[in-house]
Formats: sequence, structure tokens, C-alpha cells
Amino acid sequence: MIKKVLLAILGLVALVVVVLLFNTLTSTSKQIKVDPITPIAVGDEVLNNFSKAVQIPTISYNLETDPDSAVFIAFRNFLQETYPLIDSVLDRKIINRYSLLYTWHGTDSKLKPIILMSHQDVVPIDEPTKDKWQEPPFSGTIKDGALWGRGSMDDKSSLIGIMEAVERLIAEGYKPSRTIYLAFGHDEELGGHDGALEISKYLASQNVQALFTIDEGGFIVDGLVPGLSKPMAMVNVAEKGFVSYELRIETGGGHSSNPPAKNTIGMLAKAIYDLEQNQLDLKMVSPLDQQIAYLGPEMPFGMKLVFSNPWLFKNLILEGFTARTTTAPTIFNSGIKDNVIPTVAKATVNFRILPGETSETVKQHIIDVIKNDQITIKVASDVNEPSPVSEVDADGFRMIEKTIKQLYPEAVVVPGLIGGGTDSKHFYSISDNVYRFYPMHYAKGDEGLAHGINEHMKTDYLKECVQFVHQLIKNANP
Ligand SMILES: [Zn+2]
Repeated sequence: MIKKVLLAILGLVALVVVVLLFNTLTSTSKQIKVDPITPIAVGDEVLNNFSKAVQIPTISYNLETDPDSAVFIAFRNFLQETYPLIDSVLDRKIINRYSLLYTWHGTDSKLKPIILMSHQDVVPIDEPTKDKWQEPPFSGTIKDGALWGRGSMDDKSSLIGIMEAVERLIAEGYKPSRTIYLAFGHDEELGGHDGALEISKYLASQNVQALFTIDEGGFIVDGLVPGLSKPMAMVNVAEKGFVSYELRIETGGGHSSNPPAKNTIGMLAKAIYDLEQNQLDLKMVSPLDQQIAYLGPEMPFGMKLVFSNPWLFKNLILEGFTARTTTAPTIFNSGIKDNVIPTVAKATVNFRILPGETSETVKQHIIDVIKNDQITIKVASDVNEPSPVSEVDADGFRMIEKTIKQLYPEAVVVPGLIGGGTDSKHFYSISDNVYRFYPMHYAKGDEGLAHGINEHMKTDYLKECVQFVHQLIKNANP
């Protein structure tokens, strides 16, 4: 009898091993085969223009502070003077005072247009950290093979990359068959409601339906994916939603010599602790399924086995991809004096919402977890629901994919989901497909650069932005 049971167990184990191996060995690469090209030559003279762009401090402070009009007009004038061919060939429309929309009319009006996006504004410098900058943040210094300053990466690298590429194409006598829009909002860092959203409304009023839109928010990452020896080019096809909720509790308070059984602070602290301990569920949703399908076959054997068998390793994989709505308590406030029980305690919790969920389902989750109707819950931020998921099986994606493979034959192209928001979320109404990718390189240690101290970008990578856009425009025009 025991022998039979053992045999049955052994048989079962053997079967699992066979299935695991079968799935691993039959998982095939989704990488396309493209002949590499020699990118166009981009000389050091362009660096001067990237530098000048960084020197104009187009700062978005906060929603209560108007943009500095002199600065944004200076930036607009700088673009006009620096790119005379664009100025004479493309139409420029100023939208909502500072945002810019250029139109490069195509020769074939039957073809759907494409939209290349970037944003003019940058985040401010944190005053207390000013001394920690190796170079003044708006100096645009070129040193040690990099351009230093706020905006060198986010997002003047792609904005100037686009301008340089288009100026060059015009000089080469190139005429696009489809219309190309260049859309540069001026308040991306504040949510893009005055800029990108207004541009998209204007385009909608002109009945524009683009083949695709491309914006920041994708990367080439080197050595950051455990097990993957090649660089990964991440083309993000969706972004998580965003909402912050304020939790507030009000009690009678009292004197600290006679504390109540349930203290204001204690009750709210428990609610926050419970939210951290009871995270929202991990879920396999689109586009994470695509991300796994593209990445899995490129991994070494052990990881490939895991990725090829989500039926067994689902949670391990999902954990690795942060495939859930995330919970982040960010503000906690209560109390004014050491001998007074406070009457009010408030906390703010930020959530990044997974596609398939909404700000409302998140609110219900909070109610279910904290189980305390003394605590009120209200929205404390702009609400962005998760974006729709753009298609991978679409011409726009294929054009971007081909461009990446031509320029970076080594790179593994992977569609993905980004946690942070970009201006492109406002473009779904006028675009069949909205993608996020420019060749921003990230390696270990670069993670905090975009909004951080000592933002800088290697000059080679700035040149790659020009090469990428130049080639993408060619690939997008039959
Ligand atoms: Zn940005």
C-alpha cells in the first residue's frame, strides 16, 4: 500500500517536472529579427542646444503658482531661433499660453498622423539641497561626458531630440507621407491639465485620430533586471492610476492624565497599519501578461522556467512585477502638545491603481480593511484612473519596436506598465495607441536622477534621442 502511494507521488512529481520542462522549452522568443542600421552621425554641436534648453528654467512650481511667463516665452523663442527650418516648414500653434503644437503636414492625407510628445516644464530644485549639486542646476554644464542640470533627462532630452531630428530631416529634403504633430505641454509635472489635456482637446476638435502617440515614460535598462544580461527596452503601453485618500478621525480628546481606552492617534495608526498589512490582491492583468510573455523567453533557464509556468509560480511572478494597486502612507498628522489627547488625527495614503481597478474600488478596500466608521475617507489628490492598455499587436508598436531593434540590436523589447503618470494619459481620446518610450538609459544608481539632485544625462544618450526620433519618423512613413 505504502509502495503504491509512494509510486503515485513519484509519478505526480515526474508529471509536474515534465510539464515544467515542456513549457520552458517550448516558450519561444517574441523578439523580431531586424537588420541593424548605422545611426545618423550626430556631432557635438547639438550639445550646445541641449545645454541652452536646460539653462532656461521652465519650472512648474505647484498648482497655485502661475508659470513664469517670461521664462516660457524665452523657451519658445529659443526653439524658434534655434530651429529655423522647423519654423518655416511646420505650423506652430500656441495653446493655452505656453503649450506648443507643431504640425508637419504629410503628403498623403489619407494616412493617419502620428504624435511625438514631450514636455517643456521641469520640477523645482529643493532649496535645502541646492549645495549638493555638483554643478548649478540650471547651468547646463557639459562635463565628464554628460550634460548637467534640471531637465537634462526629464524631459528636455526628448524635446530637443525631437527638434534636432525634425530640423535635420527637413534639411535632408525629407517629406513625411503622414502628418506629424509635435506636442509639448507646459505643466506635465503638475498633471498636464492646462497643457497636454488642452492640446488633445484642440486636436479632437480638428477630428484628429492618430495612428499612435509616443511620449516619455519608457527606458532602456542595463543590468537592473535580475538574470537578464542584455539591455531591456521597455515600451510602456499603460500607466497605473493615481489617487490619494485622506483618513480623518475626530474624537472628544481630553487630558493625558486620564487617557481614553481608544485614543485618536492609536485608532488612526491602527487603520494605517491594517492597510499596510492587508494590501490589495496581486493580479495578472494586461499588460503584465504581455510583459511576461516578452521577457520570459529571454531569461536564463531557471527564471525562464518560472516565467513559462505561471500556473505554478503566479504569486512569485506577480510579486516581482508589483502587480497590484500599491499602498503608500505618505502624511500623518496629529497632536499639538505633550499633555493633550488630540481631537483630530489625519493621514494621507497614496495608491497607484492597477488596470482593472478604480479609485472607487480602492475606497471600498479601505472601508473593508479598517472596519472603523469613525474614520472618514475623502479624496486628497487629483484622481487619475488607470489608463487603457495600448495594443502590442498594432502598427505603431511595430514601428517603435523595429526602430529600437535597428538601433539597439542587443536589446530585448518588452511592453510594460508604468507606475508614474505622464502627459500621454490625456491623449487616448485622439490616439488609437499611446506608447511611452524614448531611449533614456537607466543603470544601477541612476534611479533617482530624473527629479533628483545632480540630474544629468550622458551626452551619447542625448545624441541617441536624435537618432531614435530620426529613424522612427522614417519607419512610420511608408
Ligand atoms: Zn517628465
